[in-house]
Amino acid sequence: MSRLVNGVRSFSTTASSLLADASSASRSVAQPSSFQVFRDVPPLRQLRHQLLKNERTVGFVPTMGALHEGHLSLIREAARENTDIFVSIFVNPTQFGVNEDLSSYPRTWDSDVEKLEKLNDELGRAGAPGAGQITAIFAPTSKRGGSRPVFFRGVATVCMKLFNATTPDRVYFGQKDVQQTVIIKRMVQDFLLGTEVRIISTSREADGLALSSRNVYLGDRRRNVGLTIYKALRAAEDAYLSGKASRADILGAARSITDRVLSEQKALAPSERALFEVDYISLADPDTLDELDLVDSAKGGVLSAALKMAPLEENKPGEDCGLGDGKVPVRLIDNLILQPRA
Ligand code: AMP
Repeated sequence: MSRLVNGVRSFSTTASSLLADASSASRSVAQPSSFQVFRDVPPLRQLRHQLLKNERTVGFVPTMGALHEGHLSLIREAARENTDIFVSIFVNPTQFGVNEDLSSYPRTWDSDVEKLEKLNDELGRAGAPGAGQITAIFAPTSKRGGSRPVFFRGVATVCMKLFNATTPDRVYFGQKDVQQTVIIKRMVQDFLLGTEVRIISTSREADGLALSSRNVYLGDRRRNVGLTIYKALRAAEDAYLSGKASRADILGAARSITDRVLSEQKALAPSERALFEVDYISLADPDTLDELDLVDSAKGGVLSAALKMAPLEENKPGEDCGLGDGKVPVRLIDNLILQPRA
């Protein structure tokens, strides 16, 4: 259905000319070769309309940029199921708390575009699973401003706006942000949105650490200690799998890991340790995310946690302390699904 010709995408229908038409009204942005970058909604809508007329399907992958393999896994899944993929890159201010890291959140536009170009090459190659490729990047400019905060009140508001701008057949979210998946599923149901919500499992490092745009700030020492979040969740999962159902038993298993690691770290010298605070460890209903006292074995549950890795107190010479030299606090989140027991 589509192939790469001299690095430029060509379709059996004329999607490349549709792209040219749709983007002529777009503000000038340095354009990569195999997809178009849109800053404004009207030209993006025009493209969407043309694709619809040509019976093409759109999978939508919203991101905040600083792309990694986790994001790419969502796009690969979208490519299996749709002819065209829209990816948005927008650092959503409402996803950050008052004291969180909005200003230091990594913004890596050039390398993001490079990764998407490379992935498009891969997707266009013979033998790639499915026919879809990335057609459009939607990178709206943040028109935040004190007078209009109401437009950016939460994840649901921003996603609703992105969905209205792209009217996707399917949207792709990572399991990693489990609260987000519940909000979005609920919103699609309540507002009768004609889009299918697809949840893709969390991509991890070999030892289990969930990939995250924020990991670049960790450095070696905090990265190793940060793995505690995954180990704690796994201990809680093991308790469930061994037959435990109560909150005290399941979360107690996680707590004993975080408590032990924290006291080990506290006993070390400031130049050797990485301190952290457990923000929360939660055991919740998979549909509502209400906290559970007891897991209903027919339904299962969601284990989730957040650890706040404190800045390093002292750096050692030659140590890799990560971007920001170990001074940027990093909040790690992760979750595991407790499957219903037969
Ligand atoms: P973000 O750019 O962090 O807002 O993430 C954009 C999308 O990628 C969200 O749907 C995330 O849940 C998803 N995502 C982030 N990290 C991962 C990961 N390690 N594995 C799978 N999906 C992820």
